[in-house]
Amino acid sequence: MTAPAETALDIEAIRADFPLLAHEVNGHPLAYLDSGATSQKPQAVIDAEVAFLTNTNSAVHRGAHTLAAEATDLFEDARSTVAGFVGAADDELVWTSGATAGINLLAYSIGNATLGRGGEAARRFALRPGDTIVTTESEHHANLIPWQELAARTGATLRHIPVLDDGRLDMDAAATLVDDSTRILAFTHVSNVLGIINPVEDLIALAQRVGALTVLDACQSAPHVALDLPALGVDFAVFSGHKMLGPYGIGGLYGRSELLNALPPFLTGGSMITTVTLDHADYLPAPQRFEAGTQPVSQAVALAAAVDYLTGLGMPAVHAHEVMLEKRMREGLRPIPGIRLLGDTDLAPRVGLASFVVDGVHAHDVGQFLDAQGVAVRVGHHCAQPLHRRFGVTASVRASASVYTSTEDVDRMIDAVSGVRAFFG
Ligand code: PLP
Repeated sequence: MTAPAETALDIEAIRADFPLLAHEVNGHPLAYLDSGATSQKPQAVIDAEVAFLTNTNSAVHRGAHTLAAEATDLFEDARSTVAGFVGAADDELVWTSGATAGINLLAYSIGNATLGRGGEAARRFALRPGDTIVTTESEHHANLIPWQELAARTGATLRHIPVLDDGRLDMDAAATLVDDSTRILAFTHVSNVLGIINPVEDLIALAQRVGALTVLDACQSAPHVALDLPALGVDFAVFSGHKMLGPYGIGGLYGRSELLNALPPFLTGGSMITTVTLDHADYLPAPQRFEAGTQPVSQAVALAAAVDYLTGLGMPAVHAHEVMLEKRMREGLRPIPGIRLLGDTDLAPRVGLASFVVDGVHAHDVGQFLDAQGVAVRVGHHCAQPLHRRFGVTASVRASASVYTSTEDVDRMIDAVSGVRAFFG
């Protein structure tokens, strides 16, 4: 087995902050390698949500009482913290229930603009038959199906940037596919199957050349790399709180302020209006115009605690730690007979995630075999069926790391995988 690796993080101290990591599973210490699906939560995040519900719980933005004012302050402070984490201004961060909700919000708002909603300001978003929406072959279904639906509703056409055999995007094809007809380029920052960090700047440059809007799925990058969305030049981006040490039911949609304020809303109702008559409503500016109804207040406060935790560790150190683990995973798995890693290339930057198939053994069987040894991994298509089809498989096994993942977790996974084929004969 590979020697213990250098890391800038004090992993033992970090692990002590995550109560669930002390659990045993099937008589073994838990080796949690499913952080790409959802991360574990540090005590500080759990405490922040409990403290809000215990001491400050109240409806935000409308109460004339002290608790409501305190809750509103915490809620809006949380927005500042999370917006700051991705380099955004406060009014550029819309709360959503997660990345899926954020992408659907955009797709439906653009659909509304296509129907003429939002007046003159929104006309720039309207799609026509002949327009193209470009995604990639490596998208999570959350950044694919909403665009399929939008294309079907508007007559626009979908195009997909293909993936090369080594898992990188075919940037030569991208340069041709993104053309004057392209109105939206939606792509993932990091593939949730391959762990490859896509060349965001190059993709944005392609879109900007033809005046297309860019939508970045930052679900698998926000927990792992330092992000400055305005500096990247992306128009919109989404992320999910539960993947970045935060709670379920909260996520962010970043949008350039000028764009958010020109876009008509998707969900409508309370809390997003200025004046309402029986026949008409005027909407608040962003972000409130996209936050209809009661918001996930305790979750926002806890997500801010998660972001504070990550910031305290330092995102460059987090990334360096996870890259070290990723190398260890691929180097440990590659020599095992019958293992095929998906997207096994050193030509692209990566996060701490690797997917593989075991010749002759179904991914679900591999998952169960590992689980019996306390090793938790993801199996299946990871909501990326087209990408699995590209590699000629229907399912894979995915090991994914986070700030608390130790080299021992990775080594136990590799050891367990080495026994798979002997066990299944
Ligand atoms: N995009 C990517 C790349 C993901 O990995 C995921 C979740 O696995 C999503 C989108 C959807 O996130 P959520 O289910 O939190 O909305």
